[in-house]
Amino acid sequence: MPSTFYEDYPPELTKEEEEYLLSNLKDWCIAHGIAVRPPPSFVSKEQDPSGVLATTAPVTLFPSLFPRSCFEEAHAIQTTYNELYAAIARDEEWLYGIVKELVGVDDFTAKLWEVHEAVKKEGYVQALTLGLFRSDYMVHLDPSDPNASPEIKQVEFNTIASSFGGLSGEVSQLHNVLSKIRAYPQSAKRTIAKANMPVSESASELAAGLAAAHHAYGEPEISRETCVLFIVQDPERNVFDQRHLEWNLQKQDIRTFRLPFHRTLLDTRLDFKHKLVYTPPHAPSTAYEVTTIYFRAGYSPDDYPRGEDWDARLHLERSNAIKCPSLLTHLAGCKKVQQVLATPNSPHLERFLGTKEKVDRVRATFAPIYPLDASEAGLEAKKLATNPETAQRYVLKPQREGGGNNIYRMAIPKFLKSEPEKNWPAYILMEMIEPPAQKNAIFRNGEVQRGGVICELGIYGACLWRNELKGGGTKSEVLKNTQAGYLLRTKGDQSEEGGVAAGFGAIDSVCLA
Ligand code: ADP
Ligand code: MG
Ligand code: MG
Repeated sequence: MPSTFYEDYPPELTKEEEEYLLSNLKDWCIAHGIAVRPPPSFVSKEQDPSGVLATTAPVTLFPSLFPRSCFEEAHAIQTTYNELYAAIARDEEWLYGIVKELVGVDDFTAKLWEVHEAVKKEGYVQALTLGLFRSDYMVHLDPSDPNASPEIKQVEFNTIASSFGGLSGEVSQLHNVLSKIRAYPQSAKRTIAKANMPVSESASELAAGLAAAHHAYGEPEISRETCVLFIVQDPERNVFDQRHLEWNLQKQDIRTFRLPFHRTLLDTRLDFKHKLVYTPPHAPSTAYEVTTIYFRAGYSPDDYPRGEDWDARLHLERSNAIKCPSLLTHLAGCKKVQQVLATPNSPHLERFLGTKEKVDRVRATFAPIYPLDASEAGLEAKKLATNPETAQRYVLKPQREGGGNNIYRMAIPKFLKSEPEKNWPAYILMEMIEPPAQKNAIFRNGEVQRGGVICELGIYGACLWRNELKGGGTKSEVLKNTQAGYLLRTKGDQSEEGGVAAGFGAIDSVCLA
């Protein structure tokens, strides 16, 4: 890829051209549900007492350029990644080896493990697990080699509440529509062309994952109806993203309900067979048997402000409903697992994946990640992280999800100084991936922001597996394993964080180059 690759893009718009593009973009977004509830700072409770207002989700005006080979490779390895994380989630002993290092330094992870232990003691009653995953990458270009080909490097692997699959497909459609109606200048028509603009099928593919679990659940108790239960945060600004998945399920005649996590113990109960029964407050005369619990909450300590919120998680985990994800699958997504997998010369990938071809392809996507513990690599990493000169090439990550939790570059040494060294093993240190510079324009809260941007590609995966104790051993079987569409998120290059919901990024789509 020549170093000039990303120059002259996106094309300049005249004032009139931009007005035309935006008038189409704004209406298309609202009409197709590329929307979020407004931030409280934008619209007060007095201005919108009944909560009817929505605004466009942040989106880019143009699809961002993305190397075709990288896009294809990320898609091609997704089913292997699904296989890897499903295998990790089935290997309790291996996972415990990792969680053990975090107990004592990370209360949240320790608490999740406690819930797992409690359920295990009683006996797991559901052998099926659903994973709706998202593997996130940035493009890496070796700066020391002018002829280097671009490669994908993994930022992280999400095993719980992987978001924006509902909106992503709509944004790729939006960019295709803008191209079709010639809202982009004719000078760019060869680049911003249909053949280069794949549409993400993430909403229907993720819904297909939930539907597969729903159908694999089996028969409910006689006379009970069934449903898929979305466990959600309350309030939730990103509700339309989740609704797109619900609407896809409803098209297939699958009932869905949204249950705020804090209402779990009020609105659900376990019957004598541990079946999870949901009674909707708006129609209490019908009880639904929950086939599948889809967690879009429960991944952050903020979701557990009261002791009874932990009771609620335990209650759900004890049930016979299929969990998306199970507790062990949730834990498999912690950053520490990613660091352990990325340890040079470690045997873990071979253990879980077997064939060398799979192992090599997955390993090629890893960026350097180090522990901050007493191991040799850990001591080396501590030196890198505490020296301001070297720290600027790194990001420090705690075992958290949802954005806004990391410490970047120059802020790392100061942060570590404020944290007792005995707590450092709760973090991992990761080399920053530095993707090639490019430009785009982001439409956010009614304003266009232009400038240098950084793109992050996410590939969704759907995986349903069975893990049964049989005759002293375990028998496992993968019932579904698919790549489930993509997400491109784009943020201003001045921001370290990329989360759209956390207020940093925008939803984008790829223009393959
Ligand atoms: P979370 O689970 O909170 O989303 P991430 O590991 O994805 O945590 O980090 C949040 C954001 O930080 C990413 O979306 C990305 O923008 C940035 N980031 C994280 N790791 C790296 C990295 N190694 N190189 C460059 N940016 C990174
Ligand atoms: Mg992330
Ligand atoms: Mg994450």
